[in-house]
Amino acid sequence: MSVLRKVLVVEDSKLVHMMYDLMLSRFEIVHAHDGVEAAARLQEHQNLDAVLLDMNMPRMDGMAFLRLIKADPIFAKIPVVVVTTDGTEETCRRAVETGAAAFLTKPFKAEAILEVLNRLIPNHS
Ligand SMILES: [Mg+2]
Repeated sequence: MSVLRKVLVVEDSKLVHMMYDLMLSRFEIVHAHDGVEAAARLQEHQNLDAVLLDMNMPRMDGMAFLRLIKADPIFAKIPVVVVTTDGTEETCRRAVETGAAAFLTKPFKAEAILEVLNRLIPNHS
């Protein structure tokens, strides 16, 4: 039985990956650097508890990956938190309509990420 909650981080900035490593030390983190890599990680880690998803990325952006994950019945229930510098109302509305469970703008505080993950992942201790 897995003790740590497992979170897929989809983000093209290495610095932001390092920040997540520090902030989410009590989680197991699976790293992906664009939507294409994230789709491959999904197949390898079918027990993900949540996804933290950047929007602006090369190859496959966050909106395309969000559509992909929400269209797949195996993965559609995993809560996706969009974390982006693009905090416009339009992007937020599109993300929520596409199935995002929450929307945060960068720069973010550790408390904001933890609050969202604790809310979205059931029975989190
Ligand atoms: Mg980016």
